[in-house]
Amino acid sequence: MSEDIHKKAETLLAASRVEGVSDSEREWLSSHLETCAVCHARAEALERTLAAVRSFPAAPAPAVVEATRRRVRARALELREQQSRRRGLWMACVLSWLFGAVSAPPLWFAFKWLGQRFDLPAPLWVTALAVYWIVPAVAGAAALAWRGSRDSQAEEVEANTSR
Ligand SMILES: [Zn+2]
Repeated sequence: MSEDIHKKAETLLAASRVEGVSDSEREWLSSHLETCAVCHARAEALERTLAAVRSFPAAPAPAVVEATRRRVRARALELREQQSRRRGLWMACVLSWLFGAVSAPPLWFAFKWLGQRFDLPAPLWVTALAVYWIVPAVAGAAALAWRGSRDSQAEEVEANTSR
């Protein structure tokens, strides 16, 4: 067989996989493959290669996997930090309330004593006591509320930008 015939068989083999060949060309190719061991082996090799390519799992690139994993881990860490920060703030509020409750009676006596010592009207020193006692708690609660709303806003912004 001449070299041209094997060349034609190789071209038809490739063409049959890509754009397709005519019926007569396919007939000629199959009859050639039956009689030519070299082209037959070439056709089988091509078939194996195509099968291997098809069965290759469409796994994402390792860099993408790593980047995704890093991102997820960072987000988990961020959420945990946010949670513990919030828990710390609540703890501070509870402690301040406890301190307020414990310190109320002595403060009452201290303010009463000062009121009597400087001959102040009762409403004045009671108001002063109330302001002294209530303002830090109110400020703390306000800070907590402000911080909570800011945190959820930040989460919203982040969720929107990362989408
Ligand atoms: Zn051949």
